[in-house]
Amino acid sequence: LSERLQKAFAGLRRKGKVTEDDVREAMREIRLALLEADVNFGVVKDFVKDVREKAVGAEVLDSLTPAQQIIKIVNDELTKTMGETAVPLNKSPHIPTVIMMAGLQGAGKTTTVGKLSKYLMDNDHARPLLIAADVYRPAAIEQLKTIGNQLNVPVFDMGTDVDPVEIVRQGMAQAALQKNDYVIIDTAGRLQIDDALMTELDNIKALAHPDEILLVVDSMTGQAATDVAKGFNERLDITGVVLTKLDGDTRGGAALSIRAVTGKPIKFVGQGEKMDALDVFYPDRMANRILGMGDMLTLIDKAQQNYDEKQAQEMAEKIQQNSFDFNDFLDQMDQISNMGPMEDLLKMIPGLANNPAAANIQMSPKDIGHMKAIVYSMTPAERVNPDLLNPSRRRRIAAGSGRPVPEVNRMIKQFNQSKKMMNQMSKGNFGGMEGMFGN
Ligand code: GDP
Ligand code: MG
Repeated sequence: LSERLQKAFAGLRRKGKVTEDDVREAMREIRLALLEADVNFGVVKDFVKDVREKAVGAEVLDSLTPAQQIIKIVNDELTKTMGETAVPLNKSPHIPTVIMMAGLQGAGKTTTVGKLSKYLMDNDHARPLLIAADVYRPAAIEQLKTIGNQLNVPVFDMGTDVDPVEIVRQGMAQAALQKNDYVIIDTAGRLQIDDALMTELDNIKALAHPDEILLVVDSMTGQAATDVAKGFNERLDITGVVLTKLDGDTRGGAALSIRAVTGKPIKFVGQGEKMDALDVFYPDRMANRILGMGDMLTLIDKAQQNYDEKQAQEMAEKIQQNSFDFNDFLDQMDQISNMGPMEDLLKMIPGLANNPAAANIQMSPKDIGHMKAIVYSMTPAERVNPDLLNPSRRRRIAAGSGRPVPEVNRMIKQFNQSKKMMNQMSKGNFGGMEGMFGN
């Protein structure tokens, strides 16, 4: 996936400007890429349509950095589709909070029960009780008991000869007696969705009234994950999803389709077999992963940074050569209003890198706007040579910029002082920084 997209975006970057054809081309690549990542076909279709609507037209075409914007739009849309923010676990207002697991065999239910216990103990001082309701394989009960032992968490089990619903009933009773604040029910799975299993899960649900029904899905199962999630959700009305085995080499396309098809939030991701390998699900991080765009975004950031650094370097040199003029000042204003690299600029000046005063320079956008208006009212000659600015020129500039004459005077004076000060500081002579651009 990432390779495809990188290719598509590399194309965009080289051209610099994005035409509608470019957008169409990119969307075709994105569609193929998502399909290759096993994202559900219908989901891909909707997604691409969404992104195209957002990308075609002014938003992208008018932009100075179109490739950047397309990447951002794709990334934002992916994030949005997956739910924007992390969704916490439901918690009952009275104990116990009941969490019920569901999912196919081997998806990672039992492992996740253990991980969740640990997570809740670490983050919520929980005292959970685990209920072993997978009665079809003796090994399943042993597995849960081993995990319980390891974490020092009690496990309620009645062996394999009892109806799972009855086990849950008695387990709940024990939790009530022991005042456990969480009950986590481990359930059986099958190789595929079958009606007997769904009925059993339904019965457990009816008895336990879980606050949370977590569907555990193996992220490595690709396209199939979508159907599984759909099937379970239709029967059980799940409340959330845990996507496991993301430590594998899957790109996580399942996350996108599951969320899109069920509308239910992915709450956690499993990233390994160990008990601490459970993480809260963050849609933006998953978007990066699905796109394989982490490197690309870093690259764009870096390119931006290099550009700014180069500008700052040039500025610093000008200051040292005392050739800083109002054009540079304008550039500087622009930079400050964009991203505040005044500090960066000052850091480029030898000896000033760690001067705390450099961090104290701030200007409001309004001030910057006024200053820019004044500079815009200067002639090119005046901008390059501030010495030309006699009183009559200053009056003309005041009228042109709509700012009072005293303000124009003050600005020019500040500019001259700043220039002098920057020049002195560049020679290792500090002091009086605070007044630099202040009023
Ligand atoms: P269940 O049948 O749904 O209860 O699945 P299990 O919890 O028994 O897990 C099946 C296998 O997947 C076990 O070998 C687990 O160790 C493994 N497993 C579960 N979650 C993860 C995960 O996030 N990453 C990896 N690498 N393995 C996992
Ligand atoms: Mg199990």
